Amino acid sequence: MGDNGIDVISATLLLLAGVTLGPELEAWKKQIESQGGVPVLVAKVDFDRAKNELYLAPDTPGRELFTGYLKQEEFVKQFHLMNAVMIHHRAPGAQAYLVLLNGARESDWADHQPSLLAHEFGHAWLKARGFPTPLFVNDRWACISIHAGDITQHVLIRQELDRRGIDFRTFWLKSLGQATTQFEGTSPPPEEDRCTRVRQVAQSVDVRLGLKPGEWAGQSRYETAVGKTMPEVNGTVESIVSYLKERDMADKDQHREALKFVFERLRDLAAQRTDEYRVENRAVSTLAGVN
Ligand SMILES: [Zn+2]
Repeated sequence: MGDNGIDVISATLLLLAGVTLGPELEAWKKQIESQGGVPVLVAKVDFDRAKNELYLAPDTPGRELFTGYLKQEEFVKQFHLMNAVMIHHRAPGAQAYLVLLNGARESDWADHQPSLLAHEFGHAWLKARGFPTPLFVNDRWACISIHAGDITQHVLIRQELDRRGIDFRTFWLKSLGQATTQFEGTSPPPEEDRCTRVRQVAQSVDVRLGLKPGEWAGQSRYETAVGKTMPEVNGTVESIVSYLKERDMADKDQHREALKFVFERLRDLAAQRTDEYRVENRAVSTLAGVN
């Protein structure tokens, strides 16, 4: 899409259907658009409970670009669990960074909309700068692709938001506090629910890499609660954390390698091929210990 197309779309975006940007985000959006040559479109997606369907207000700019995703079963399943997501839409002659806010969860993020948008802009910003992301494939691996990309990109997004002086921690720590309470009040997810475990790895890795020691008073309570609910994610979290600590995510080659590594670790967890699931091995080593 040429510059002209972008200008037209940006002008239309001054009146986003219910989504307004402050001056900081408006400026960042323009930088992303000129760097990537791709417009950034923001929309709030609402959920019609009666029809069990996601929908967009009729006057949403770029509406036709968004709607295709709202019908993909795997995407919808993942989207229900998120506050927002960024999709790099690629069709012949029509590219866009689509930022979708989940209206069904608005009560959770209404007070923190700029933090939420800034986070998704961070994903678009990395895309515009040519950082690799896993292709979103609408199949059973969808959740692994989403979370592998999140894990490696979040390292850079946190740094950039800090650099820009955009507060994301207030909202993040509030969400983690809510997650802790939820873990403490529920039993472990069903064995076959692989995606919840993959998602948990992403959240735990963020906590381990994104917080300085002592920064969040709730961290040990959070980690205890996760350990009780899903102890089987621990090994995967540890291996990803120690791998990423040794690498520079700002280096595109290292980033690409990391993405592969993280994807494979998450896939192993989802396929129950990690140590935690090797019951046979565990039994053998116990026997060896007895002898
Ligand atoms: Zn993210």
